[in-house]
Amino acid sequence: MDKDINFDVVVVGAGNAALCAAAAAAESHAKVLVLEKSPKNLQGGNCPYTGAGFRFTHDGIDDIKSLLPQGTDVGDFQMSPYTAEDFRNHFMEATYGDTDKDLANIVISKSRETIDWMHSIGVQWELPVNVNLENAPSVIPNQVGLSAYESGPGLVRMLTKAVNNQSTLILYETKMVSLIMGEFGQIKGITMQDREGLNSISCKAVVLACGGFEANPEMRIKYLGTKWENAKVRGSRYNTGDGHRVALAVGAAINGQWTGCHGTPIDLSAPKMGDLALTDAMPRRSYNLGIMVNLDGNRFTDEGTGFAEQTFVQIGSDILAQKRNRAFQIFDQRALSHLEPRYGGSTPFKANSMKELANLLGINPEVLCTTVDRFNSEAQDAEYLPRTLDGRSTGNIVPSKSNWAIKIDKPPFLAYGVTGSITYTYGGLKIDEHARVIDTEDRPIFGLYAAGEIVGGIFYHNSLRAAGLMHGSVFGRIAGVHAAGYKK
Ligand SMILES: Cc1cc2nc3c(=O)[nH]c(=O)nc-3n(C[C@H](O)[C@H](O)[C@H](O)COP(=O)(O)OP(=O)(O)OC[C@H]3O[C@@H](n4cnc5c(N)ncnc54)[C@H](O)[C@@H]3O)c2cc1C
Repeated sequence: MDKDINFDVVVVGAGNAALCAAAAAAESHAKVLVLEKSPKNLQGGNCPYTGAGFRFTHDGIDDIKSLLPQGTDVGDFQMSPYTAEDFRNHFMEATYGDTDKDLANIVISKSRETIDWMHSIGVQWELPVNVNLENAPSVIPNQVGLSAYESGPGLVRMLTKAVNNQSTLILYETKMVSLIMGEFGQIKGITMQDREGLNSISCKAVVLACGGFEANPEMRIKYLGTKWENAKVRGSRYNTGDGHRVALAVGAAINGQWTGCHGTPIDLSAPKMGDLALTDAMPRRSYNLGIMVNLDGNRFTDEGTGFAEQTFVQIGSDILAQKRNRAFQIFDQRALSHLEPRYGGSTPFKANSMKELANLLGINPEVLCTTVDRFNSEAQDAEYLPRTLDGRSTGNIVPSKSNWAIKIDKPPFLAYGVTGSITYTYGGLKIDEHARVIDTEDRPIFGLYAAGEIVGGIFYHNSLRAAGLMHGSVFGRIAGVHAAGYKK
């Protein structure tokens, strides 16, 4: 590329939010450049790891049908209308009311039109399917409206095609290194690095859509805490908080829960960084139907405060706080048929007595037997009702178990080694309704925009399934349109 060329808008990243921003900016007649740090085959950050489910307002299956390929037979697929009020309530429930209401309202009100717009630029939709949810009941309804055709990889492919069709250049293996600011504190250009070295180019606006900092251990330690140092990364190795770093360096304000992230208990053998073939097979979330012990043989958390959907982020974090960031999930034969199907992908330790199991796990048998005996003395003799918050709790033990406290006494006993993983981070930049990055004096940094996982304030404590991609698309599109119209 001729490095002297000027661009109107440089988009950093080539995932969902970035490609929506690039497409919207080009549609608004801006000259756009996209920078992607990864090689082409790994493009898209966390996006390809998802089932590409989108949550949006709609009037039910008859309404949604219009977005499916012509002639699609929806059979007896049921879907009730999903109103703005439902969406708002679910945002509030998931985040315990902490979500930035202004941002959430924009996501909600623009969700459906953004789905239609994505359709118009070439994203094909299909009805959502996720077999892993079958044994994972939830109190927050699933409410995925549609999934992109062929999941996350399909979404990246279709959006890339849309951007290529607009003749927008995507530079792969080229990372944004820093922002160049003008004398009035406005964006003037960007410094990037490819295999040949550093280059600076001029532009009027930059859209940061380069994900969170989940794959950066130094930032994980700094913001999430030391226990996150060795968390396994479920998604892209390229989301290392570069956008957070450069924006903070030019005075951006932060928003949201910088100490918070999405994560899950995961099989101990999971790879350190996301592997597309394995990622979705690795979560281990049936802990509420058994107990968990650390390497000392002690329980360390209430495994049954709620359905896994509400607790797995916290439980993953609790596991990371244990010695060597690991634990064992122990089940008996009563739990076996209720475990999530993906447990089938692990070979558990199996024994006919707790003592034998302890020896297999390398745990002091006396301690493990005492832990299980104490639990059983306070637990109940009953069968699991995994889809009911059964209120069967332990009495006088610490930690207690609030639901599904059922004796573990039907051998053979099974133990699965688990650790904690990180999916993505919640803390990010403060933006306004035009997706402009706001500085610490509450003024927009002219020419600087952000969208996607890098935006803070949307998720706290928990995420809301299928709202991550949705907010990335909504603010990506808003950022692209506004950045295209921005005059220096
Ligand atoms: C296993 C898994 C499952 C998930 N499931 C869902 C789901 O079902 N529904 C949902 O809504 N969300 C889900 N998410 C979250 C979802 O993936 C993210 O919300 C979404 O991908 C974020 O999009 P983004 O465009 O902000 O970032 P990303 O899609 O992660 O893209 C960021 C891009 O920026 C690039 N980049 C980073 N640094 C630089 C740099 N310095 N220069 C240039 N490029 C750079 C990266 O390589 C990447 O291509 C899941 C995440 C994971 C890991």
